[in-house]
Amino acid sequence: MQTQRLRIAIQKKGRLSKECQELLKRCGVKFNMMGERLVVHSENMPIDLLLVRDDDIPGLIMDGVVDLGVIGENELEEVGLEREARGEPANYIKLRRLDFGGCRLSIAIDKDAEYNGPQDLQGKRIATTYPQLVKRYMDQQGVKFSTCMLNGSVEVAPRAGLADAICDLVSTGATLEANGLKEAEVILRSKAVLIQQTGELSADKQALIERLLTRMQGVIQAKE
Ligand code: ATP
Ligand code: ZN
Repeated sequence: MQTQRLRIAIQKKGRLSKECQELLKRCGVKFNMMGERLVVHSENMPIDLLLVRDDDIPGLIMDGVVDLGVIGENELEEVGLEREARGEPANYIKLRRLDFGGCRLSIAIDKDAEYNGPQDLQGKRIATTYPQLVKRYMDQQGVKFSTCMLNGSVEVAPRAGLADAICDLVSTGATLEANGLKEAEVILRSKAVLIQQTGELSADKQALIERLLTRMQGVIQAKE
């Protein structure tokens, strides 16, 4: 369902929301975030913001439901691999990498365990929210393993006896340390990215996207 207004999906609440809203505002998009609305109309441009869970953003783009989205590369790649595995469309255009949401997806193990490389993970059970990315990495390394899928509290899985190791997002490493773990392998370095659906958009929408990108370039460069 095409609309006249450009639809941009952003995270409603979480680590990407504040900086994402800030970036749009700096690009001159005026809007008022009030209440628990799913859709927020810009007051000065033909743009609607869709406020959703970050997990939903890659699918909304890949299904062509929204025009643009801001999402962490970790989530984008995981959903892409998952959809490919199911034979569903997983296409998108990466318009630009943004200057926030930086983190790494890492495998972590007991801080006292000896570690000499990926082969030490052979036969281990790894707790994660990112089974596809872990599988891609372990397949590349030729290491057999099993997973324990968790959508939260991943870092306590080893202590709770649910898994031998974890693969989770890390920024400072403080959470790992607090749970008696150490980083063994970085499998992905991630940032927030701006993506577009691959369907053909109206000339007006495409022109608006170009305008936003030019402004974004200026905003991000000014900060560097
Ligand atoms: P939602 O309710 O939207 O599903 P969430 O809990 O899945 O939120 P957040 O914790 O808000 O997601 O993280 C969103 C994104 O922020 C991550 O997918 C990642 O790209 C990025 N990020 C940056 N630093 C970190 C970090 N230290 N831990 C987790 N995510 C981080
Ligand atoms: Zn999420």
